[in-house]
Amino acid sequence: MSDVPIEYAVRLPQRRQHLVDVTVTVPADLVAGGRLVLPTWTPGSYVVRDYVHHVQSIAASDPDGRAIELTPSGHTAWTLPDDAVGPVTVRLELYANELTVRTNHVDDHHALLVPAATFPYVEGGEDRRHLVRFDLEAGDGTVHGLLPRHPDGDDDVFVADDLDHLVDGAFEVGDLPTVDFEVAGVPHRFVWSGHGGAPDLARIAADATAIGEAAVELFDGDLPVDRYTFLCVGWDQGGGGLEHRDGSVLMMPVRTFQQPDDYARFQSLVAHEYLHLWNVKRLVPAGLQRFDYERPTHTTSLWVAEGWTAYYDELLPLRAGVWTTRRYLDALASVTTSVLDTPGAALQSVQRSSYEAWTKHYVRDENSPNAGVSYYGHGATLAWCLDLLIRREDPYGPGLDAALRLLWDRFGGTGTGYTEDDVAAAVSEAAGRDLTGFFDRHVAGTQLPPVEDLVGAVGLTFSERSADVPAAPRLGVISSETDLGVTFDTVLRGQPAWHAGLTGGDRLLAIDGLKVARGELTPALRAHRAGDTVDVTVFRGPRLLTLPVTLGEPRPERQLSIVDSPTLEQREAFRSWTGRPLSEVGAP
Ligand SMILES: [Zn+2]
Repeated sequence: MSDVPIEYAVRLPQRRQHLVDVTVTVPADLVAGGRLVLPTWTPGSYVVRDYVHHVQSIAASDPDGRAIELTPSGHTAWTLPDDAVGPVTVRLELYANELTVRTNHVDDHHALLVPAATFPYVEGGEDRRHLVRFDLEAGDGTVHGLLPRHPDGDDDVFVADDLDHLVDGAFEVGDLPTVDFEVAGVPHRFVWSGHGGAPDLARIAADATAIGEAAVELFDGDLPVDRYTFLCVGWDQGGGGLEHRDGSVLMMPVRTFQQPDDYARFQSLVAHEYLHLWNVKRLVPAGLQRFDYERPTHTTSLWVAEGWTAYYDELLPLRAGVWTTRRYLDALASVTTSVLDTPGAALQSVQRSSYEAWTKHYVRDENSPNAGVSYYGHGATLAWCLDLLIRREDPYGPGLDAALRLLWDRFGGTGTGYTEDDVAAAVSEAAGRDLTGFFDRHVAGTQLPPVEDLVGAVGLTFSERSADVPAAPRLGVISSETDLGVTFDTVLRGQPAWHAGLTGGDRLLAIDGLKVARGELTPALRAHRAGDTVDVTVFRGPRLLTLPVTLGEPRPERQLSIVDSPTLEQREAFRSWTGRPLSEVGAP
């Protein structure tokens, strides 16, 4: 087999116009009848994005510069003629003006390039090395890539072992501030590509070091990279991350770093993407070992891949000392409340939620909370339940950490995917008793996570949030507010507004004939009691409607506090769980 690599070159001659020039050199032995495919999706983000949408032009030429016909093949690929000789150069112009962690964005400030959206791959050459060369002009800045640089010293050439490695890349180009630090002796870099905003890079490095070290400890000192890079973009809104083999792309509003709650979310995001370095990238669920970039690839285990990661992305900042115990417990209580309050939990198990990520989780609408669960929040709550079950058996032991380490020892870096049975076996082994019944009921089945029954294992209890003002009777909606007023984003199935016939998307105007403006929904409801019938007036599209709603009992607002007279075992279990003393649990 030929080992001629697939070569790409990138130029950014029209950054202000959001245009990227990409050339692909198809090796001679893959030219005749060769097929080029631009992926429809990128791993870690389970939705068909059809990156081909942004192709402005594509043309092929032979070694003498003569044009070669490209024929569309399927909706995101092209074929070369059977009699073509090569190597052939294929030139594309891409439009790049969508700033997310999984799409391309090029402007006068920076260029974020996501390989799946940028580089058509050559069928039959997937296992070859893929080289990416940046032909930059003065003023373009520096290239920060997640892939290794070419060993021959050319600074702006990056090397991927194969197609999957290439797609696991990501590049940031620009004149961007960076900070270097080490975790467990391994070099790490944080690259800030904010559009404005002024992060405290030294503080970010210190926090990321502490979180990274807590993660390495979780995996028994095993850090399977020789370098790691965070590429962080800033914008006026949005947030999120995408994990890669040797780094991640983060996105945060530029004001994040000046606001404590937003900064805490950023710390959690850092922990989340960093944990994926193990869980997902090297500890891989069955179904995600190889990808078909032309169509969806399914797994039933995103509740472990994402849910357990979401559980630890809040626990690690606490263990690392960058979150307070109170912040952590409030975050847990908030997730628990939303998980136990999701009507769709009766209809969709976390296993199905994982499998249906492509058509449900990533295609959210006003009915989503009624139709299913999030494998993030629901999976995190199940991880917590399993942790509590194991700690109830052994208050002095490592809890769920032990199950994660067992999975890591068995599957980490092997290329073999784990199944739900493997997860159940590891958890049962860590608990010292068979927990497959839990999986039947709460993972394959739709029984709610039994967290309220288990939380005593670590000396905690749920209580209803006490407030100086009485709780408002329940309407049963998830709403959002703008200067235009209150809109019902979701009307929760089985709740008073749903029975009355209100609908997600309805814009609230008045209750009992009195205007309800921004910030006034809760006070307006507080004027009534559970059991009262009120007239709710809304705009639904062009229609003005008034519907009578009989209000329900207030929604339980859970908070976590310490049990009365905790036992020594509860104190020890709390300490081995969080690394903190139970006495730190102050008043909510
Ligand atoms: Zn994730």
